[in-house]
Amino acid sequence: MINEKLLMTPGPTMIPPRVLEITRRQIIHHRTAEYERSFAELCDNLKTVFCTKNTVMTFASSGTGVMEAAVVNLFSPGDKVLAVSVGAFGDRFIEIAGAYGLNVQPLLFEWGKPTDPGVIQDILDKDTEHAIKGVLITHNETSTGVTNDIKAIAAFIKKTDRLLVVDAVSSLGALELRMDDWGLDAVVTCSQKALMNAPGLGFAALSDKGWAARERSTLPKYYWDLKKYRDGIAGVSENPPFTPAITLTLAQNEALKIMLEEGLDNIYSRHKRFSAAARAGTAALGLALFPDQRDSSHVITAVKPPEGVDIGGVIKNMNVNYDVVAVGGQKSLRGKLLRIGHCGYVGRFDMLRAFAALESALMDAGYKFETGASLAAVQKSLTD
Ligand code: PMP
Repeated sequence: MINEKLLMTPGPTMIPPRVLEITRRQIIHHRTAEYERSFAELCDNLKTVFCTKNTVMTFASSGTGVMEAAVVNLFSPGDKVLAVSVGAFGDRFIEIAGAYGLNVQPLLFEWGKPTDPGVIQDILDKDTEHAIKGVLITHNETSTGVTNDIKAIAAFIKKTDRLLVVDAVSSLGALELRMDDWGLDAVVTCSQKALMNAPGLGFAALSDKGWAARERSTLPKYYWDLKKYRDGIAGVSENPPFTPAITLTLAQNEALKIMLEEGLDNIYSRHKRFSAAARAGTAALGLALFPDQRDSSHVITAVKPPEGVDIGGVIKNMNVNYDVVAVGGQKSLRGKLLRIGHCGYVGRFDMLRAFAALESALMDAGYKFETGASLAAVQKSLTD
C-alpha cells in the first residue's frame, strides 16, 4: 500500500484538508466582488498573524523574493547595513544586500550558535555617526535549527533611527514574533511553512519607520515596490496591482482562519511542546542536538547523526520505505545533520510517525538502540 508522504521538513509543510480543498476549485477572476471579499479578509488576518496594525502585502513569490523586496524598499545604493548571519539564510541576506550594491558589514556567528545581541549592540554603539542604516537578521535559522532573540535585539535598535529587517520565513505563525510591540521595521515570510499553504506566496510588512524609509529609498523597484501593494489595499489604486496567485491567496485565507481558530498563543505553545518531544525522542536514541538545547528551535530540530552512519541514506530510506520526509544539512553541513521539522500543520501522531520512521531507518543502517525508545520518550513528553 502506498501511504501519503508525511513531510516533517522545515517547508514545504503539510497542508490541512480544508486548505487543499480550495486549491482544487475552478479559478475565479480577481477583479470580482467574490475575490475582493476574500482578499480583504486575508489582509486583515495577515495583520493578526504578523501582530501589526500596518498593512501586510502579498506577492506571488517565494521567501527569498520578499527578502529582496525588503532590501530594495528600505535602502539606497551604498547604504551601510549590518547583516547578521548564523547560517545559510543569514548568508542569503548578505548576498541579496550585496547584489544591490549596499555597503554590507557581515557579522557572522558560528553555525549552530545564535546571535549574541551584545555584539550587535556594541557595533551599533561604536557607530556614533550612524553610518549603519539597518540590521538584517534571520529570526529562525532553518539551516541550523537555531532561533535568534529578536526581541532583545529590537529593544536597543528601536531606540535609534536604524531599521531592523527580519527574515521570519521559518518562524512567523509558529514562534512568537510581535512586530509592533517589539518594534520591528520589516518582517517578511512566505506561505509554505507555518502558514500551512503551498509554496508561492511571499508576505511583507513595514513599520511606520519602515514606510518613511521607503519614501527615501532610491534602489530600483517595480514589481517589488511595496507602495503599489499598500495603495491597492488602501483603495488608492488597483488592488492587487498585478494578477495575484488567486488560488493560493484563497487557500491562504482559509489556512489563516484555521490558525486563528486555534489561536496564536496556542500555536506557539504547541510548537514548544513538539520541539520538547523531538528533543526527548532524539535523546532517547542516544543522539545529540546540533545546537545547545537552550538555543534549539521550536520549529525544527537539528540532530547530529550517529558516528559511522550515512545520514543521507537514512533520510532517503525514511522517505522511500517509511513515507516520512525529513531533511539533511545544507552547504557546509551536508551529510552532517538530520533535521526534523515540526512546523505548521503537525499533530502529535505525526511526531510519533516521524520517530517510528527514524527508528526503522536507523535500525536498517545498523545503528543499535532499544527499539521503541524514542516513541516512548515522544509519547511521554507529549502527555506529560
Ligand atoms: N529564510 C529562511 C529562514 C528560510 O528557512 C528559507 C527557506 N527555507 C528562506 C529564507 C528562503 O525561502 P524560499 O526558499 O521560499 O525562497
